[in-house]
Amino acid sequence: MILKIGVIGTGAIGQDHTRRINRVLAGARVTALNDVNRANAETCQRDHAPEARIFDDAHALIKDADVDAILVCSWGQTHEDYVLAAIAAGKPCFCEKPLATTAEGAKRIVEAEQAAGRRLVQVGFMRRYDPGYVALKKAVAGVTGAPLMVHAAHRNPRVGENYLTPMAIHDTLIHEIDVLRWLLDDDYVSARVFFPRKSPRAHENLRDPQVVVLETAGGVVIDVEVFVNCHYGYDIQCEIVGEDGIARLPEPMGIQTRSGAVLGQPILMDWKDRFIDSYDYELADFLKAAAQGTAAGPTAWDGYVAAVTADACVAAQDAAGEAVAIDLPARPALYA
Ligand code: NAD
Repeated sequence: MILKIGVIGTGAIGQDHTRRINRVLAGARVTALNDVNRANAETCQRDHAPEARIFDDAHALIKDADVDAILVCSWGQTHEDYVLAAIAAGKPCFCEKPLATTAEGAKRIVEAEQAAGRRLVQVGFMRRYDPGYVALKKAVAGVTGAPLMVHAAHRNPRVGENYLTPMAIHDTLIHEIDVLRWLLDDDYVSARVFFPRKSPRAHENLRDPQVVVLETAGGVVIDVEVFVNCHYGYDIQCEIVGEDGIARLPEPMGIQTRSGAVLGQPILMDWKDRFIDSYDYELADFLKAAAQGTAAGPTAWDGYVAAVTADACVAAQDAAGEAVAIDLPARPALYA
């Protein structure tokens, strides 16, 4: 059986996922497209899905009999509405991060999915599918012993003028928030944020860099440097310090050179290249589960926890280094 997919939001990632489903992965076809900017849907249809129908109304796409599962790839503030509609239609739904732009919104999705009685939502936290992070998780289970500390960094070469200080949390740190919690299998209890001297490359309305310190229920202390004007590359670092040893996220593959008395290795500049394979793996996982009428991978609960944690980190940005508590309700049985 070929799974029929409807894609809502056909900008950068929506087009790339459509290409992935129709040209890279097996078992599914994109049969329906929607975008508030119809020209984007037409471009996506022309380039990646000539047989797909374009819908002017996303809700009509969700309900359409020729659509078995939904991809939500529109702007963040629209996700909640579409994910809730997919759940109401009983259709598996892959939602790009964020699940919702508020913790309350994410909670409404968690509640709707619980009421539906089965997993229908996968959140696009693709780093869990990155072979480097998967190997790191194995090392935590086998080599490092119980984790004590994590040192991480998320560095981008530069950001635009519209990137403001809270976006360092909601758009950038959000990936560490999810993947570190998954690596440690632990929940956060508090967040602190420290601002070193500001980089002269950061624009007027952005405090950059910043260091976020998260503490987990198990007592692990995590420091994440977020530096979005580092200039030199897109660089993701992660080191777990455990009772018995240390494990580091591998560097992306690159040719090592010896020349002019320098031992060199290139550093990526574009975030799209860093986790390129993990996008394939996450969608393959979604399609496999969706064919069974359910969802796999990062859950709506993970999306909710990420939203609560991000809100605490943003509050901590204004708390002058004081800890902000991260309070979570008990994990519902559906997500055990
Ligand atoms: P984009 O601006 O390139 O595309 C978004 C598209 O959604 C646009 O074509 C826009 O017209 C359309 N859209 C906006 N509102 C809509 C609505 N109400 N209904 C239907 N279509 C609507 O943005 P993007 O870079 O593709 O990002 C889209 C989402 O994917 C964001 O939530 C972003 O955070 C997420 N994203 C995740 C990753 C990742 O690494 N997991 C990477 C890139 C983007």
